[in-house]
Amino acid sequence: MSEASAASPATAGMLAVLGGGQLGRMFVHAAQAQGFRVLVLEPDPHSPAGAAADSHLGAAYDDADALAQLQAACAAVTTEFENVPSAVLQHLALAGLAVSPPAAAVQVCQHRAREKQCFMSAGVPCAPYALIESSSELDSPAVASLLPGILKTSTLGYDGKGQASVATSAELASAWEAMGRVSCVLEQKLPLAFEISVIVARGRDGTIVHLPVQQNLHRQGVLAVTQVPAPDVPPDTARQAVACAAALAAKLDYVGVLCIEFFVLADGRLVANEMAPRPHNSGHYSLDACDVSQFDLQLRTLVGWPLTPPRLHSPAVMLNLMGDLWFPEAGSAAQTPDWPAVLALPGVHLHLYGKTEPRRGRKMGHLTVTAASVAQARDTALQATALLGLPAF
Ligand code: ATP
Ligand code: MG
Repeated sequence: MSEASAASPATAGMLAVLGGGQLGRMFVHAAQAQGFRVLVLEPDPHSPAGAAADSHLGAAYDDADALAQLQAACAAVTTEFENVPSAVLQHLALAGLAVSPPAAAVQVCQHRAREKQCFMSAGVPCAPYALIESSSELDSPAVASLLPGILKTSTLGYDGKGQASVATSAELASAWEAMGRVSCVLEQKLPLAFEISVIVARGRDGTIVHLPVQQNLHRQGVLAVTQVPAPDVPPDTARQAVACAAALAAKLDYVGVLCIEFFVLADGRLVANEMAPRPHNSGHYSLDACDVSQFDLQLRTLVGWPLTPPRLHSPAVMLNLMGDLWFPEAGSAAQTPDWPAVLALPGVHLHLYGKTEPRRGRKMGHLTVTAASVAQARDTALQATALLGLPAF
């Protein structure tokens, strides 16, 4: 039996997801819609993906008993979170499960310096940086030449967490102290014109398809708005971004969905920021605006189904819905935003992740506006931001 048929709905083999967040939840929904049963391994008993899954194993990602149960029930395993131990993915692959993304690629994405080396070896430009692992490195001329910069922990950073803007050597030294002297990279602070991302999917046979280039607006280090088609991206830049993403997927012998985030600099140059070995927040619009979503692509790559080029059928604007929206007044109790007012606008698709407790800075859901034209999508999205009390973009 081939891996692909082992994971087909007819054999009742379940698919496994490591991680319980909203990305896992949207994968579960896509897989279930196509007849699969899904098991989620996630320690949190109340996770968005666990609540949607057919089966939830509440244990650590490396729990031996849980992994034995997963192996017995599932033919294929994917992740929705890049910080699952890559050794677990390796173990499951050796046990004969179809595993995507591959363990080695996940390991690269878990460490900013490894990731940058991978960019450079694939010929993909990235920000000048230095690895900082001891106090003697803080004063080197190479490090000084990168200031003003952004100090980022080498591992476990997300949504701008584990980062500090540093202008001087003294600020760098105190920021590194404050981070607990852990392994960090210092990146030169680059003059950004705007940010974009590209999502590619690569199949076991090496076929690569991609979603259209997305333009992303971040606020406080967190994605706030994604627009597709990307309004400010020249065609050559878009082509270069797609070529870089495809080169990286091939270089990593990748199977699955891979997102590369890029900076477009004031002088027009394209610089890779980071990559995620999974679907990405900037690809959520594809659920409502493309004929194949990023989660469909994750499913197809996992079970060995064919990849067809996704087609954007509607211009789209995605707005992230953060927990702050539940607290319009400082100090007040949480109140649900006025969804009916927003849903009265045409082409609004509301996605909430089933998180019971809204908190400031927590991703609670997103909203995608689709329309017949770019101008209309933007106009409706701006009306939605006004109704929700979000800043315009
Ligand atoms: P994510 O949630 O995307 O994983 P993260 O915490 O890993 O985020 P980064 O993507 O490294 O953080 O940085 C967050 C944001 O900070 C970027 O999207 C960009 O707006 C800004 N930023 C990061 N690095 C630089 C840089 N070298 N120069 C200028 N701005 C930067
Ligand atoms: Mg980022």
